[in-house]
Amino acid sequence: MTERFPPPIGSPAALALRNTRIVWLILLLCVLVTTLWPRLAIGSGESPIDKFLHAAAFGALTGLFLNTRWLRSLWWSLVAMAALGAVDETLQMIPQLGRSADLDDWVADVIGIAIAAAFWMASRPVGIGAARLIGQRRSIAADLLLARPTAWLHFATVAALGFAAGAPLGVLLDSWFIRKGPQPWQYGFIGGLLGMALGVHALWEAGVRAHLRRATHQQPCLACGTCASATNATANDSSTTAAATISIATTTSPTPCGCCGNPRRAIDWAPVAPLLGSDELAACLVPILLSIIALVTFSVAFIAIVTALRLRSDFILRADTWYQMLPADSRILGDIAVVALIGACGLWACRRRIAARMDRCGASCLTCGFDLRATAPEASAGTCHECGGGFVRVS
Ligand SMILES: [Zn+2]
Ligand SMILES: [Zn+2]
Ligand SMILES: [Zn+2]
Repeated sequence: MTERFPPPIGSPAALALRNTRIVWLILLLCVLVTTLWPRLAIGSGESPIDKFLHAAAFGALTGLFLNTRWLRSLWWSLVAMAALGAVDETLQMIPQLGRSADLDDWVADVIGIAIAAAFWMASRPVGIGAARLIGQRRSIAADLLLARPTAWLHFATVAALGFAAGAPLGVLLDSWFIRKGPQPWQYGFIGGLLGMALGVHALWEAGVRAHLRRATHQQPCLACGTCASATNATANDSSTTAAATISIATTTSPTPCGCCGNPRRAIDWAPVAPLLGSDELAACLVPILLSIIALVTFSVAFIAIVTALRLRSDFILRADTWYQMLPADSRILGDIAVVALIGACGLWACRRRIAARMDRCGASCLTCGFDLRATAPEASAGTCHECGGGFVRVS
């Protein structure tokens, strides 16, 4: 399926894009105001969170910016974000503001940008056949969700509530286990961000699934989200049985979408049996194990190299001294970046492996594993004889 850009004006895809752009501009304004507000200081000298704020702000800006699609290239988008961070830091040199420009702050911006980019790359479309089709359905369901301005208000509310719930938990964990001192800003902030991410992700999944269920009935165009034309709708209404749907799938050529001209195939919204949770888990097991091994190996190697060479190499000694002199939030941000980047790689591997299983949807049933190669071998969609679940064959 070739994607048309920009989507036709008024279509759900275009509305979602517009809303994303508006929210990005609002977020940019917030970041500029808080970074350039005269003599503003958040956190305390003993427990600084300045670097976390920088990374979180630019991570969020980058994540949204990649979805505004102002720049189609990922790398130019990242360069633009890094430049934005540099401009923001340079503006802080204006003496009247009483703020200070800092190379460390910009490095924190870049770490936030890198983490956002890693997760954005990890969540890009995967698979070639059924997996890609299911990804397109989810993506158009997301557009239908984001086309409504109220959805964004709900996300903002859940983000605030998640922060309010996560921050006290972080403070509690800090005082019980980590005991960093009397001013628990850092772990409070980390807890708040995790609560925020958890809340937004849960609402996102619920919203996308609700719109996916609705879209399965309304069968919108997979490219622009516009619902079926009148003739198409009646054709779908008359085909009450699965057999009739299959005959349409095999006999009629795709009709172009009335809004964007993208060909609409009968398999676009044909039912697909869900992949079993245990199969999903089995696909993720190896990436999760490898991620944990990578993390442990990296940490052990890092500590071993530093302790072994500290007294022998002048360079390592100086690097270690520099690292120990860094403020606590910079060091914690470094740890977070390592965990997040390895986690993003693991997420990508999990999605790839699940997609590879889903792509074999037309050969063996996703729910029961029944061999479907002999079941209506010419049809592009059908149902499994064993469990009644649907399958599609994307050519
Ligand atoms: Zn700064
Ligand atoms: Zn369309
Ligand atoms: Zn089955």
